[in-house]
Amino acid sequence: MIRKIAGSFMTISKLPYIVRTLKTSQKREKLPIILFTLIKPIARITSYVLGRNVRGAWIKLPQKQQRTYIEIMKANRGKFLLSGFFSGVGLYYLYESHIQYCPMTGRRKFVALTPDQARKIGEANFTQILEEVEGIIVPETDPVYLQISKVANAILHANRDLRQIYDKTWTLTVIDAPVVNAFVLPSGNIFVYTGLLKTCDNYDEVGIVLSHEIAHVVLGHVEEKLTRTSFLQMVLLVPMSLLWVLIPHDGIGFLTTWFFNSVADIMLELPFSRFMEIEADDVGLVLAAKACLDVRKAPEFWSKMSLNRDDALQNEDLEFFSTHPADKTRQENLENKIENALKIRTVCGCEELSRKSKTKSTRSS
Ligand SMILES: [Zn+2]
Repeated sequence: MIRKIAGSFMTISKLPYIVRTLKTSQKREKLPIILFTLIKPIARITSYVLGRNVRGAWIKLPQKQQRTYIEIMKANRGKFLLSGFFSGVGLYYLYESHIQYCPMTGRRKFVALTPDQARKIGEANFTQILEEVEGIIVPETDPVYLQISKVANAILHANRDLRQIYDKTWTLTVIDAPVVNAFVLPSGNIFVYTGLLKTCDNYDEVGIVLSHEIAHVVLGHVEEKLTRTSFLQMVLLVPMSLLWVLIPHDGIGFLTTWFFNSVADIMLELPFSRFMEIEADDVGLVLAAKACLDVRKAPEFWSKMSLNRDDALQNEDLEFFSTHPADKTRQENLENKIENALKIRTVCGCEELSRKSKTKSTRSS
């Protein structure tokens, strides 16, 4: 029961563990998915419309009536505070009731999206991306495709004990473009750009990147990120609307909300994105170790990336403003985890690594 779509790619393998049974429970999915993906613009527009309308209505009121309303508000200050308190309790309950425990990391996560909903989002993205890259997809008979699929399969096969691996139909699409990137959708669709191969010296390094990207899916990072963003937008809706009520000029209002949103992103979202990257590095290293890849390549690879790249945001001092940790931070973190990863390789019965690895070069084919 292998799903085949459009013939522009193939399911990575015909191994039975990659076959997923398609679940068709759709009842409670449609509305939340739209809300989750559009919550940011919706919240921003709502606060703008709400705040501006309240301000407009207030300005139109005669002064006497304004004073009466202010008196009423002052008299009911206690009630406002109480309703604010109960809203806070409600939000806290909402937060606590969606906490999940992640056995892989031992971390409590705030997740409201179900894996099925995340899969739907992934599948929608998948169709869209395939349309965009049509014409530059590397055929599945190409030696480069075959080599990447071999590495991807090794990782998936070695980690088939994980539900997040065995419950998906994994696919691989190799895109012929000079982009140094690879990513995996929550639905299990792996994308690799041929530009990545030019940065990797061998397929173990490709495997390190793939393990990291697959780890994002295993850890449900998309679900967690969308939940967190939606929740933050809900919480920020009140102060954002208030900003629009209090600021008399639209131009200043836009500037202030832009500043407010940027500060919220820098303080709340970016550190979390960097945290997820490090977490995916850690779990990715375990996935790679189980697949008997040369895990020693991981810190080496990121160190090479830091040498090759002249991206300003990879500067450690600017890490604070980036969604990704600086390559040097990643390298150091991975170096600390190598010993454990090598132990996992031994437990999994992998061949001992020679001092000088003889892995296949990405440039040989
Ligand atoms: Zn990542």
